Amino acid sequence: MIKKTRQYKSELAVIGAGIAGCAATIFALSRGIKTTQIGNTGALAYTTGYFDLLGAHQAKYLQDPWQGLQQLRKQQPEHPYAKVSDEEIRSAFNEFITALDKMGLHYSSPGQNNHLAMLPAGACKPTFCLPATMQKATQAMSSKASVLIIDFVGLQGFSAKEIVANLKSQWPRLRAKRLSFPEMETGAQVFPEVMARAMEVATTREEFARRLKAIAGDAEYIAMPAMLGIHKADFIHAEMEKLLGLPIFEIPTIPPAVPGIRLREILEQQLSVQGATIVTQQKVKRVSFDEDVIRLFLHDIYGQVEVEANNVILASGRFLSGGLKSDQYEIREALIDLPIYQPQGRENWFSESYFDANGHAVNRSGLEVNDQFQVMDQSAKIIDNRLYASGIVLAHQDWIRQRCGAGLAIATSFKAVNAIAQKLSAVT
Ligand SMILES: Cc1cc2nc3c(=O)[nH]c(=O)nc-3n(C[C@H](O)[C@H](O)[C@H](O)COP(=O)(O)OP(=O)(O)OC[C@H]3O[C@@H](n4cnc5c(N)ncnc54)[C@H](O)[C@@H]3O)c2cc1C
Repeated sequence: MIKKTRQYKSELAVIGAGIAGCAATIFALSRGIKTTQIGNTGALAYTTGYFDLLGAHQAKYLQDPWQGLQQLRKQQPEHPYAKVSDEEIRSAFNEFITALDKMGLHYSSPGQNNHLAMLPAGACKPTFCLPATMQKATQAMSSKASVLIIDFVGLQGFSAKEIVANLKSQWPRLRAKRLSFPEMETGAQVFPEVMARAMEVATTREEFARRLKAIAGDAEYIAMPAMLGIHKADFIHAEMEKLLGLPIFEIPTIPPAVPGIRLREILEQQLSVQGATIVTQQKVKRVSFDEDVIRLFLHDIYGQVEVEANNVILASGRFLSGGLKSDQYEIREALIDLPIYQPQGRENWFSESYFDANGHAVNRSGLEVNDQFQVMDQSAKIIDNRLYASGIVLAHQDWIRQRCGAGLAIATSFKAVNAIAQKLSAVT
């Protein structure tokens, strides 16, 4: 059987389905831009679910990310955040969080200060916006409330005892207990994603609440690994609080983690409902920059796919998601072989000290862009004025150390889409 090539035409093609790619599609749709998005899961399912704006500067945690941004822009003028104003970042976050809210996934509102948020082993880090299911952790932590943390028989990588041990000196009224999850009592390994899907069934919730109630004692809050549903997390969270009569919060687990899977599934479903053409779980194999349009080539189980676009945003992430690759000698952009800003020679990739407070030069490699987020070469010449980039594929940032992954993705996509919207409106 000869399979026919499927062809899509759009004003914008977004390459990547991480936070940067999805944010770009959200912003483009709300500006009436006809958009096709291509990408597979990438790092999205690994995320804690927290949206960091700027959690650290010069190896110090920040309470006020806006103050940190001011210093960052002065000290690192090449950082992508130096190309986006505070006002634009606030608008970008508001628009993104509101869009998620409308899709049915609620987050805390972006504000002035970072929240101190819990991590799987009981460490804490500053973050800007939290999933609503995790929000009560900040109240519980600041009042040092009596909290029962539970984990599950068969669950690996999340230990309530470990969290209590790590936090006990600052938070004495923490306790740990282990439970069997309903219908998963054999002692075999259990997975947060499977429990989360089981929580979508009312009878499972009722039985789980009954078991929790039996051990809650005088706890003021119950904390648990993130597993309160995939598609209706806020509803399930509220239902469980009602059944239990106690406030509940989730703590992120190690990857792949439920909050990331929630984001992936809701975005995948809703972006197409809202009018985007979504080619899921596929990667663009080749790009051709023709005079009239940019053509993207890929294939899926139904055959060849060709996307013709007037503009492209490359939001393909770093090494983990396949946006960048490296050999023994250099770092390369994996799809188009675009020029990459990087240290001269592999011997300069890493600092002598693993814990160097300035980080490792290799982590600041990536694509260079102008103020419109059009990709440039090393002599600051635009490669093609229809090609933009956003997210952590960009150079001059160290998102892990600076704790700015989601913020960078959201803010830079906002800026790139606005530039494209302006260009398109000037043409029509
Ligand atoms: C373990 C872990 C924990 C994290 N925790 C946090 C956190 O607590 N807070 C926070 O703010 N951020 C966190 N992040 C970061 C966050 O998940 C995102 O990685 C970050 O926001 C950057 O997103 P991005 O879209 O630029 O890149 P990515 O998320 O890496 O997405 C890149 C996308 O591009 C796709 N792609 C690559 N090549 C192609 C191609 N040729 N064709 C089509 N698609 C392609 C990939 O499949 C992927 O979908 C975490 C990440 C990890 C890995």
